[in-house]
Amino acid sequence: MLKFSSTFECGNGKNFCQISENRYRCEVVGDKKVYCYYFCFEVENTGGDTSFTVEVWHDPVVNDPEGFISHFPTTIWVTTDDGKRFHALEQTCCHTLDDHIEISLFLKQGKKLRITNNWPCTYSDTCNFLKNLVKDRKNCKLFSLGTSAGNREILGIKTGNASGPRILCLAGQHPVEFPGIWACRAIADFITSGIPLAESLRNKFLFEIIPVANPDGNVAGRNCFTDEGIDLYQVFGDNPDRKQPDSIEGKLLWRWATEQRTDLWINFHCYLGWRTNSEFPYDGWYQVPYDVFKDHSKRKIYRALCDTMRLLTDAPSTSTEPDTHWLNSYEYQLARRFSIPHAFYEINGATAGPFQSAKRGLKVFRNIMKTFEHVMKNG
Ligand SMILES: [Zn+2]
Repeated sequence: MLKFSSTFECGNGKNFCQISENRYRCEVVGDKKVYCYYFCFEVENTGGDTSFTVEVWHDPVVNDPEGFISHFPTTIWVTTDDGKRFHALEQTCCHTLDDHIEISLFLKQGKKLRITNNWPCTYSDTCNFLKNLVKDRKNCKLFSLGTSAGNREILGIKTGNASGPRILCLAGQHPVEFPGIWACRAIADFITSGIPLAESLRNKFLFEIIPVANPDGNVAGRNCFTDEGIDLYQVFGDNPDRKQPDSIEGKLLWRWATEQRTDLWINFHCYLGWRTNSEFPYDGWYQVPYDVFKDHSKRKIYRALCDTMRLLTDAPSTSTEPDTHWLNSYEYQLARRFSIPHAFYEINGATAGPFQSAKRGLKVFRNIMKTFEHVMKNG
């Protein structure tokens, strides 16, 4: 007898049912077109050892089978026996069809397994991680931007030289894009560490790091939205000229970036699936046209940062050109209105759990900071 559930932090999956002997099905819970691919559910075996197949279907409410399937094939992660980590399921156990995927599994008597297509990084674990850093390192402080629509603190850490240029780093706007959150956590760890480069950066810059910008979405295992149904990436919705975003988290992030001087904005996202036109590790990046920057010295900094993304990170591994930011994103509006440069990087979760996400995130951060420091100093 198998019992399915998704009622835990970062869980996603609905309408679990048995369709024949040893064959089960469920649907993902999507938010909008394309953002309807994530699942994370648990199976408990209360009977004898069993082999079985689970069909995971697109969300009929969103009704975007193509958008769903565009994220596959990808790595399917299953928990290890102790439930503490995930490992990649062998590709021969996963099949991608037109509107659903099939996963073949084996589960021993009395055992439990979690199955997902994106190794989760939960809000509660991330809050504990930040609190432990503050306790352990003694060179950083916890801060909160305020509370989300669902009344959760948007937590971050602050470290470095308060009178130096101010660097903001964030992830988790799209809540289940966990590799970005893993990357941001690694940056928080790195920048408060005893590594000489970290110490030298702390002496010169102020860093504020928020790994989970959308806590309610994270806890609910949502692909895209906040509790209010807002996409925090396309945060200005259909009016990019609006004075400020009108959602709760949207406003908090906007004020964070604009009420004090901000010198650099670093944002991590993620997507899934290996594509036919790409090379490992299938990462990606976004930019705005250089002439969006009215301030010429900031435009020069931005160009050098874009060169860095292209030449010194894995960003071009999916496509040789960056995607262009939407007009209604923070990146575009911060560039247009305040000439604030950014680095925006997408880690592919098909090739990254916590370790690879950390590694690729740190590569972006180190190289971006080296370029930024040099260009700031030498103009
Ligand atoms: Zn995203």
